[in-house]
Amino acid sequence: MGTVRVGILGATGTVGQRFLQLLEQHPQFTVTALAASDRSQGRPYAEACAWRLPGAVPDAVRGLVVQAPEPPLDCDVVFSSLPSDVAGPVETRFARAGYRVLTNSSSHRMDDAVPLLIPEVNPDHLALLDACKQTGGGFIVANPNCSTVMIALALAPLAARFGIAAVAVTTLQAISGAGYPGVASLDITDNVVPFIPEEEEKIERETRRILGSLDAGRVAPASFAVSAQCHRVNVVDGHLAAVRVKLARAADPAELREAFASFTGLPQELRLPSAPARPILVRDEPDRPQPRLDRDAGRGMSVTVGRIARDTVLGHHFVALSHNTIRGAAGAAILNAELLLARGYLKV
Ligand code: NAP
Repeated sequence: MGTVRVGILGATGTVGQRFLQLLEQHPQFTVTALAASDRSQGRPYAEACAWRLPGAVPDAVRGLVVQAPEPPLDCDVVFSSLPSDVAGPVETRFARAGYRVLTNSSSHRMDDAVPLLIPEVNPDHLALLDACKQTGGGFIVANPNCSTVMIALALAPLAARFGIAAVAVTTLQAISGAGYPGVASLDITDNVVPFIPEEEEKIERETRRILGSLDAGRVAPASFAVSAQCHRVNVVDGHLAAVRVKLARAADPAELREAFASFTGLPQELRLPSAPARPILVRDEPDRPQPRLDRDAGRGMSVTVGRIARDTVLGHHFVALSHNTIRGAAGAAILNAELLLARGYLKV
């Protein structure tokens, strides 16, 4: 049983349920508060929630009564998986009330004072919180968009070793990325939808912010251009990205392979509970990665990379894949919280 008490906003949704599943046996965090819309408020969780993950609702939260997503809640840390149209002001109110907020929503990802964090990639961006660390006040830390996280994670070792001049990415994104009930079955069956609202813009700006550098207390975005095209495909879980990259210096595909395969970071060094042994797994078979076969790699926390080859237009290309509700959402926020705890930002 963990010692840090956590509340989950949007607890009945796709990401909220994944939070509860991942936190069920967590050694550091215990779920003590749940919140959702007024449709669910006032009811025990097991009654309010249509549970859609394999297995049952975790016993410890079955009887917790769902509350309004407003402070005060009986917890020290708040995980937010509210829809972006309501998350912004709610998360601000929690942070102002002194709560440490870890959010999946896009509302605050580009705020100057909010670290947009991937613990293996930019843990130094936590310095944005140093003023709060001293005062013990509330703050917001965001995890990236569900496609951005795997793209930025895969680009990180290339940026460090070769430099990046330009990136063009095409995503094939799972249905669960749209939440529940998400895309109508008649729209997605036997089909591909080449539009996900705001997704291309998010990938383009968030990738540059994550791979940017801290300069005088602000993040200066990486200078390379990122172009994204996004598609919703008929897959339940697991986003895939076909990435073309122009590197700043010449490199052999075997050197890229080695950079991916040897990549490791602070979560692995600190042995954080949710850290996968390898953040990036390389598959050499010509037909991998695939959503059904590779989304659960590293308990859903590893990004699988394959198809590494020369590209006649931008120099190199590869394919990346990860689980959109684990590394792309709840698992990402939990790993962020584990790093914050290890670094002294979550003292309770
Ligand atoms: P979802 O399945 O639609 O769940 C939404 C949750 O928010 C439910 O618990 C719902 O409660 C609650 N909610 C809805 N309207 C509300 C309101 N007005 N006030 C308070 N609570 C409200 O959505 P999701 O897929 O879990 O996504 C949640 C957030 O995570 C979004 O910001 C999304 O962009 C982000 N995200 C999702 C993914 C993914 O793969 N799905 C990945 C990364 C980030 P009720 O059940 O009571 O309606």
